[in-house]
Amino acid sequence: MELYELNLHFLLEGLKAKKFSASEIFQSCKRRIDECEGNIHAFITRTDDKEPQTENADGILAGIPTVLKDNLCTKGIRTTAASKILGNWRPPYDATAWKYLREAGAVLMGKVNMDEFAMGNTCGNSAFGPTYNPNDITRVPGGSSGGSAAAVSAGYVPFALGSDTGGSIRQPASFCGVQGLKPTYGMVSRYGLISYGSSLDQIGPFARTVRDLQIIMSVIAKHDPMDSSCFREKNPDFSHKDKVSIKGKRVALVKEFQDFTLDAPIADAMTRTRKILEDEGAIIVEVSLPVVARYAVACYYALAMSEAHTNLERYDGVRYGYTVTDASGVKEMFERVRSYGFGSEVKSRIIAGTCLTEPSRCDEYYVAATKVRTLIAQEFTRAFGETDFILQPVTPSLPSKIGEVDDDEMKGYETDLYTLPVNLAGLPGLSFFTGYAGNLPVGLQLIGPRWSDPELLNAGLILEAHLGTPKIANGGKN
Ligand code: GLN
Repeated sequence: MELYELNLHFLLEGLKAKKFSASEIFQSCKRRIDECEGNIHAFITRTDDKEPQTENADGILAGIPTVLKDNLCTKGIRTTAASKILGNWRPPYDATAWKYLREAGAVLMGKVNMDEFAMGNTCGNSAFGPTYNPNDITRVPGGSSGGSAAAVSAGYVPFALGSDTGGSIRQPASFCGVQGLKPTYGMVSRYGLISYGSSLDQIGPFARTVRDLQIIMSVIAKHDPMDSSCFREKNPDFSHKDKVSIKGKRVALVKEFQDFTLDAPIADAMTRTRKILEDEGAIIVEVSLPVVARYAVACYYALAMSEAHTNLERYDGVRYGYTVTDASGVKEMFERVRSYGFGSEVKSRIIAGTCLTEPSRCDEYYVAATKVRTLIAQEFTRAFGETDFILQPVTPSLPSKIGEVDDDEMKGYETDLYTLPVNLAGLPGLSFFTGYAGNLPVGLQLIGPRWSDPELLNAGLILEAHLGTPKIANGGKN
């Protein structure tokens, strides 16, 4: 077995027992990247040309390689959000989540691909070209954090960070066959995350086991005075316990989702997972989320686009990256920079967001969406009075073929139905691996109330003990 195949907690154990060195882990991961990257194209920027030195040889992640989604700021290292508009921008500071990892000893292999400004669910809306699913390179890895999921799945690194505004950690985790956690809003500092929809964005980890997610959460889920939405109380307890139980806990299925069509392997996974939960002593119940089922998609896109159009106003050719020097005036400069710098999906969302918040329509659209959001949050609060967790799909279908575009753009948005309500309500959501349908992994989602992230991961451990952990994807090698 090669070192790159080892999951994070085995690497940490092996390092502690001096079975191998951090340098050997780095070499093994780098060889794996060199071997597969021509097929996968997960990276935007590689930083592994020479062996990175750990900052903390005694840290819990000393010498462990990782990659970051390219919307996380890295001091002095190009950060693009997969857009031309940022050019070769090098941030003057680190995102706090990366700072915490660095201080724990982790080393950076590079910055990875995503949909431009995190808008999309295929990793195909990138100015740097698409990433390919390491389990089947004819298919999408999911998005927007497709590069992070692909890198962990192909064995480039044992863990990675991504961000999730409406599903961008959970959906690629499920498509690539890894475990991914979208933490409670405020659990991980967003300082240094390039904003998309600030009230929805959240940074979270990918790894190949739930236990590894616990390790990463114990490092990154810490208060940060630089993010006023970050929790202030004492740090949550993500320590691993060998004995956890779900006996007597209620796990709900959503009544309104029962009639929706799912690909057969996803429906099968729901049945199998339900059975596992029952065998473990959980009580299966039903909750009703009528507002979520009917309005969440429209509500999310109205809010996400409105916030995005405001957040992206700062890219004007003056402060960041790409600019033109021969414009006849400011208006022409803005027009040329933004027309060339942004890709078409980003531009259409900026235009939609401008319309949704334009003074004569704002009440009817943006303000109405904020009210629906409140109803959705209340609906979840009520549901979590009747259940401890909610079990549901991540997506209705398995990953599509690369380049397969649906003429109906709304359909792409609607596939986010199972993930985006979690962001609207600020909840934690775990995307967990359930097995394979042929060579394609199948993931499902477990959702908990706000701040239940440690319990959610404990429940994930129980599921993982039955469902198994994913194998390293072949990375397009055969
Ligand atoms: N697919 C959703 C969108 O395009 C979610 C993306 C995300 O979570 N960043 O907005």
